[in-house]
Amino acid sequence: LIELRNITRSFGLNQQVAKVLDSINLTIDDGDKLAIVGPSGSGKSTLLSIIGLLDPHYQGEYLLRGREITTLENKQLSQLRNNQIGWIFQNFNLISHLTALDNVALPMRYNQNIKPKEYKERALHALDIVGLADKYTSKPSELSGGQQQRVAIARALVNEPSLILADEPTGNLDSHTSDKIIELLLNLPTSGATLVIVTHDTNIAQRCDRRIKIHDGSLVNDYQ
Ligand code: ATP
Ligand code: MG
Repeated sequence: LIELRNITRSFGLNQQVAKVLDSINLTIDDGDKLAIVGPSGSGKSTLLSIIGLLDPHYQGEYLLRGREITTLENKQLSQLRNNQIGWIFQNFNLISHLTALDNVALPMRYNQNIKPKEYKERALHALDIVGLADKYTSKPSELSGGQQQRVAIARALVNEPSLILADEPTGNLDSHTSDKIIELLLNLPTSGATLVIVTHDTNIAQRCDRRIKIHDGSLVNDYQ
């Protein structure tokens, strides 16, 4: 699915200041459940943004199904970003004045393949997958942290993406709740989807199929 070759990402004036990622090589296959670990500031989120097509300011090659993504048209790229990639964040990033249903429905507005009359049914289905169909009228403030993250997972699933990217999805949850959330993420019914989880938690990393570690800008691949 995804091949990163010699990916280098620097920040600062003329990109000369700090080399956060230094010649990263990484292949992610369809259906992989991959954990990325590494100390704070090591570049995990930076790598995830590149994988998620949010950050084009890297050096190196990014091949998607064998095609260099810089050869794709902007329209294709934004369709990939909007329809094929689901994001999950540490802070849930739900919109506070919208109900669970409306939060989950939001990404479908950027997906031309889904008609507005399908929004409600599809959003309810996604909420059902995460076990929260009965809370569809609740606002985020009326939900627990674990429930809010479930809504965020439903939102990430609603376009049926092929790639799900989670940046510290359990960072704000207690250990029991984070266990449940990881269980859910690793056993989604969309089992063909590729999952990349950035985590500090070595237990979570151990539960994924593959683990990579970022250390001084380089990757330590597939350590056990
Ligand atoms: P954490 O575990 O704390 O989330 P991380 O591994 O996700 O850390 P990144 O957020 O990827 O780390 O940041 C890696 C380094 O790149 C940090 O030193 C950070 O200051 C720097 N960095 C990230 N984004 C930018 C930016 N937009 N401009 C300048 N420096 C940046
Ligand atoms: Mg980070």
